[in-house]
Amino acid sequence: DPAVAGPLPVLGLDVAVPLVTGGEIGYAALDYAASAPALRRVWDDVAAYAPYYGSVHRGAGHLSRLSTELFERARRTVAAFLDCRPGDQVVFTRSTTDSLNLLAAALPRDCRVFVFETEHHAALLPWRGAPVTVLDAPDSPERAVRTLERALAGRDPHGPALVCVTGASNVTGELWPVRELAAAAHAHGARIVLDAAQLAPHHPVGVRDLDVDWVAFSGHKLYAPFGAGVLAGRADWLGEAEPYLAGGGASRAVVRRADGALDVEWHDGAARHEAGSPNVIGAHAIASACAALTEAGFEALVARERYLLGRLRAGLARVPEVRVLSLFGDEAPRVGVVSFVVEGWNASHFAAALSAEYGIGVRDGLFCAHPLVRTLLGDGDGDGDGDGAQAPGGCGAAEPAGGEGPSHAVRVSFGAGTPEEHV
Ligand code: PMP
Repeated sequence: DPAVAGPLPVLGLDVAVPLVTGGEIGYAALDYAASAPALRRVWDDVAAYAPYYGSVHRGAGHLSRLSTELFERARRTVAAFLDCRPGDQVVFTRSTTDSLNLLAAALPRDCRVFVFETEHHAALLPWRGAPVTVLDAPDSPERAVRTLERALAGRDPHGPALVCVTGASNVTGELWPVRELAAAAHAHGARIVLDAAQLAPHHPVGVRDLDVDWVAFSGHKLYAPFGAGVLAGRADWLGEAEPYLAGGGASRAVVRRADGALDVEWHDGAARHEAGSPNVIGAHAIASACAALTEAGFEALVARERYLLGRLRAGLARVPEVRVLSLFGDEAPRVGVVSFVVEGWNASHFAAALSAEYGIGVRDGLFCAHPLVRTLLGDGDGDGDGDGAQAPGGCGAAEPAGGEGPSHAVRVSFGAGTPEEHV
């Protein structure tokens, strides 16, 4: 009850947050799709390392060796969490955005990228410089596969190609047919990278099971702190590419030649793309979260989440003014992410009222997926002019044409962790 709980100014900031001291939560923070609160276990594991900071790969001292071991163990834990193939690489990055930008920088020459317009901007935008085919929003998982197959069939079969696809939408929560899309990509000689930012906290992501070439995800959506992410998968393109960042750690040997120029020999393996002092805490925290989720068991997490999702959907269905946004239809399987519009309400005002009056924190906006949200809102051509052109089926009733419909939406998102498991 936020009225009893606070709000309290915390951290010396001029922002009142309705948390009860002692860790009890008097506020429902339902924005896990943006950033999920750290699990207590993760927090404890991070705190346990705090007295032993040392630099990675840099020294013979005990603390440096300890940090190096911790960092490399984290890599193995993540590889096991993702069921990586022998020879796959786990590169620690800053986030999903960073991971996909790293892969974009490592594309072979003339590699064509295929991406649905429905992607998060982190998956839509990093491919600068490469030829990109942007695919129309599908209205069903089957249509997604057919659309991709058709596009791949029309490409030059000799050049390299990459498909980038989300595992679960950060807007609708809907699951994408990753295994089928991967099969289609491979059948046409293309590779596929999975944006698992929203999928990994909710479902097992097995590189072998899904048969994807790379997976990208972020720690801060997986109950770990900010600032660390993962790109895992095939080593060849990464090994042949120029280092993503140039600097110490990525270079094996640097020699100044007689003519004054520098000869640089770069590392192979993950270190090639991890220049600078690595984020040991971030990697350690991600590994801790992976271990916590594995121990909790995805079967139990999925079951609890399905129950919570059912309650949320049933509650929203009782409010006639609410329209839930969906690309694949009401029955489509999804994670704990639901976006909706409320007739007669501006989404920002609605979200602000939920927070101030009911102690429920949600997100409002276009969720860094502008073309998708505009399509779902009825401005189907994604250009924001509200003319609704090209609106695919399965999106629910179209808003009135002419820009009178809602311009953004409200999103509720959660995970299966219980409040006691969170800091
Ligand atoms: N992809 C999806 C599906 C996401 O939801 C997000 C974050 N909202 C990202 C990528 C980007 O993640 P990050 O901000 O951690 O780089």
